Amino acid sequence: MSNRAIIVTGASRGIGAAIARELAAAGYDLALVARSEGPLNELAAELNGDVKVKAWPGDISNWEEVETIVKEVHAEFGAIYGLVNNAGVTQDGLFVRMSPENWQKPVDINLNGTFYFTRAAAPIMMRQREGRIINISSVIGLTGNAGQANYAASKAGIIALTKSVAKELGGRGVTANAVAPGFIATEMTHDLPEKVRTDMLRQIPLKRFGEGKDVAGVVKFLLSEEASYITAQTLVVDGGMIS
Ligand code: NAP
Repeated sequence: MSNRAIIVTGASRGIGAAIARELAAAGYDLALVARSEGPLNELAAELNGDVKVKAWPGDISNWEEVETIVKEVHAEFGAIYGLVNNAGVTQDGLFVRMSPENWQKPVDINLNGTFYFTRAAAPIMMRQREGRIINISSVIGLTGNAGQANYAASKAGIIALTKSVAKELGGRGVTANAVAPGFIATEMTHDLPEKVRTDMLRQIPLKRFGEGKDVAGVVKFLLSEEASYITAQTLVVDGGMIS
């Protein structure tokens, strides 16, 4: 599987950076996408070597930017084997006080961004007659959560999008799966109040928060030959939290 090119969005930190590290170590060439140019360039420089790793700064909620990135990545690598739609944001707030702007932000970035990248990359993968699409959803997209109606809806939408794409593209050798992490220790979860963290830990049978590499290992598996008959699935990576 070595030296196949994979796009990883949201690779500037957190789970995306862990995925990039894992995939570079597994021999994949990488196109790293996020808005922050500095951290993205630093990670690309760190990982570039045996594999080719390049940074493509951009906003995934902007269709024109996404279309351009995918075209440039395709020109640079000659093929796009995998797409990991990982970039995402939260904009928490109680539903009855949620403004349309606060509703819109996670939908624009999480759901629309996943649609834009998948829409731009799918025709390339279909022509290749191979490809792997991996969308990072969340357990919140399966369970819902007070204070996260916008985020939950965006993440549930990603699961439905994944299943639909899997059904349309399966005949062309392209798989599409979602990964639903539970509580992973990153910047996204860093600022949660101590009481929320303690309560959550109590609900996790494995008695620890997840790490980026817990999700990265599952992404690597879904890109592997061993996962070639898996499509339209949502793999929950949460230490047993929602079971
Ligand atoms: P994070 O540390 O906040 O990282 C988010 C990444 O997304 C960053 O690289 C960020 O880079 C990028 N990003 C955000 N908006 C973007 C945009 N408009 N265009 C391009 N890139 C954008 O979050 P994380 O915890 O690693 O989360 C990664 C994914 O896992 C998200 O989809 C999240 O919803 C999901 N997830 C996380 C957890 C958790 O517990 N941490 C649980 C379930 C699911 P820039 O800011 O530089 O653009």
